[in-house]
Amino acid sequence: AAKEAGRNQMILFDDELREKRLAAARTVERLREAITRDEFLVYYQPLVRLTDERITGVEALIRWQPAGEKMVPPDRFIGIAEDSGLIVPIGSWVLRESCRVAAGWNRRHGTVVSVNVSPRQLREPDFGLLVLDVLRTSGLPPEALILEITEGVLVNSGKVTEQAISHLSMLRSHGIKVAIDDFGTGYSSLAYLRDLPIDNLKIDRSFMPAPGSPDLAAQTLVKTIIDLAAGLRLGTIAEGVETAEQVVLLRELGCDRAQGFFYSRPVPEADATRLIQDSATAIR
Ligand code: C2E
Ligand code: MG
Ligand code: MG
Ligand code: MG
Repeated sequence: AAKEAGRNQMILFDDELREKRLAAARTVERLREAITRDEFLVYYQPLVRLTDERITGVEALIRWQPAGEKMVPPDRFIGIAEDSGLIVPIGSWVLRESCRVAAGWNRRHGTVVSVNVSPRQLREPDFGLLVLDVLRTSGLPPEALILEITEGVLVNSGKVTEQAISHLSMLRSHGIKVAIDDFGTGYSSLAYLRDLPIDNLKIDRSFMPAPGSPDLAAQTLVKTIIDLAAGLRLGTIAEGVETAEQVVLLRELGCDRAQGFFYSRPVPEADATRLIQDSATAIR
């Protein structure tokens, strides 16, 4: 009977796996169509400088709007786009579109833009040239572009990924900035921070102290990351900031910038233009 139950479980597992694979294959097909039908959008979330609470930058975040359907969040398709390689054309599009839009904001207000780059994109031999071409065509100064990568891009099971390092080093020599996204959620050793071509740490939102409680453990972790960054001359950006208490703490600890629902959700281009304009002209 135990054997029987085991087999049944196995069949169930097989079915689930097949179901998942089918769903992923369908998503790949729909993503291919989405590219030709122009169904992607970029939303922008403000990055606020903590000393004066002005918007100094935005993060570009992709959205998928299939005709007549609900908007699909990135967590539902980025993984599949990575596995299938479609992240390469999709990621190029995000980079081109967000740099084009940000060039206008940058001319008027000095705003910078952060763009997420997936490991798959950094394995392309032409990635570095693509970025330089996008900057030339958009007119965005290199200093106004931040590429966000995760820890795993540069260090994979203890090994440094040479292709990614060489792209990022070349781009940094042109003035482009690099940020480690979701910092603290990876498993790589800290030693890599000293040697890798990076400029900023984005403190993952899981480190933000829970609202309404002292949450001393979280405070200690945030302080430790900020001090570590300061010692290595890296800038700090706190992600997922949702409360005024978190803002007070981050400012006390010397964090440079904050991003989160407390200031604004990611918004469409037109709304972002208004937020940036208002922030630039506000009297404080
Ligand atoms: P991420 O790069 O860490 O982006 C931050 C995510 O946190 C965004 O989710 C944002 O909406 C969300 N967030 C911001 N502030 C708060 C807050 O105060 N509270 C909470 N609960 N969440 C907050 P989103 O837009 O759904 O993106 C999810 C992830 O998808 C991104 O995480 C990034 O890893 C990936 N992604 C988004 N756009 C792109 C893209 O163009 N290319 C690639 N490769 N990945 C992308
Ligand atoms: Mg990011
Ligand atoms: Mg992040
Ligand atoms: Mg995060």
